[in-house]
Amino acid sequence: MRAHVITYGCQMNEYDTLTIQSELVAGGHDLVATPQDAELILLNTCAVRGKPVEKVVSVLGDLRKERAAGRDLAIGLMGCLAQLEEGRAIATKFGVDLLIGPGAVTEIVPAIEDLERRRAASGRSGSRVDRLAFRDDLVDHLTPPPPAGTLTGYLTIMRGCDHHCTYCIVPQTRGPEVSRPLAAILAEAEAMRAQGVEEVVLLGQNVNSYGRDDPRVPSFAELLQAVAAVGFPRVKFTTSHPMNFTSDVIDAIASSPNVCDYVHLPVQSGSDRVLQRMAREYRRERYLEIVRELRAKVPDVVLSTDLIVGFPGETEEDFEQTLALYDEVGFEQAFMFAYSARPGTPAHARFDDLPRAVKTERLGRLIEKQKHWSLVGNRRFEGRTVRVLVKELGRDGAHVVGHSDQHHTVLVPADQVGRMGLHDVRVDHATPHALYGTVLGAHAPGLALPLAS
Ligand code: SF4
Repeated sequence: MRAHVITYGCQMNEYDTLTIQSELVAGGHDLVATPQDAELILLNTCAVRGKPVEKVVSVLGDLRKERAAGRDLAIGLMGCLAQLEEGRAIATKFGVDLLIGPGAVTEIVPAIEDLERRRAASGRSGSRVDRLAFRDDLVDHLTPPPPAGTLTGYLTIMRGCDHHCTYCIVPQTRGPEVSRPLAAILAEAEAMRAQGVEEVVLLGQNVNSYGRDDPRVPSFAELLQAVAAVGFPRVKFTTSHPMNFTSDVIDAIASSPNVCDYVHLPVQSGSDRVLQRMAREYRRERYLEIVRELRAKVPDVVLSTDLIVGFPGETEEDFEQTLALYDEVGFEQAFMFAYSARPGTPAHARFDDLPRAVKTERLGRLIEKQKHWSLVGNRRFEGRTVRVLVKELGRDGAHVVGHSDQHHTVLVPADQVGRMGLHDVRVDHATPHALYGTVLGAHAPGLALPLAS
């Protein structure tokens, strides 16, 4: 079949799409660049909030119309939504042919064969093929490196999550934590490095739990050092959980020059009362302890976080504590969300939602706070030289865009850069959103590839 994969959501899904595509090619199927040319369209979905689900429903509506108009097309629903009752209902409503969960991505080819057998036996009305069981051997599966020319490689180190934050659907869609064997991770890392990848990002719902489920694999701190030894100029990781962010991880960051001084550590709220209702297992003071230790051992560290405002029951006083925590930490970067109730989560079942107006107003105040501290944090780099992974031409066509070791967005004049890759940049000016600078030179050898426009 000519297949096309549409990916929604997080980097874990991007990584799963690489696995799905490599399985399809190994199974004799062809990948096509556009859905119009496909005989099979696979939607690798996200279910973390309502919006990505709405997007998928809208695409399925369009495809149903095309099928009604006579287009011979098979449709597959994959990813987190496929694992949920909500996803199964949507699949039935739109006549989806394949339903494959995140724990069974390597079953895509046998599932297609099953579908073709059913169609041969009973025509287009053949029943849907479901693959929703979590495969234990998925963690051993080796995903080929990304295409040549890819500068940032995403490497999943574990699957699932054993935490049960009350607003989160992930434990139901991705199952319990399973750490991948060190050998599989290092094999993928070495293949990526050999392919020219300059920055590797280790992925997991909660990377700090790596190794806690299996005595045969090392700790996350040991894994970080093992991947750093592969020789990537830059090593990053996401997502961390304060519950398992231990001193050995901080020491590994401090002692490994190519592990970047950038940490994304979701706090979600500054109020202990709200953290308890979210079942986040840590409290404000413990979070601040981690920040203090990080700043003491990694003085140049840039901190990023996730924050949810308007969680059910959040009072004005609770929200004030979130604003106060923001001031105390001075996060340089943050992802902020107004709480959206997800069917199937404990919070959706247990708590009443706050009025949208309250959430929007609080989110507005938090965004102002973020702008203030991002500017303060970014100004820290004015006059300094930062290493930037230049990847593409900016929207204005006059600048190229890249990211620093500390994940700043950095813009430099396009006429100063002739290729993608690592460059030294002197920071001339900072805004809340980006650093603007002058290129001092390229890091050889790198990839002499033209800039993507
Ligand atoms: S740590 Fe909490 S928010 Fe993160 S994936 Fe697990 S349950 Fe969801």
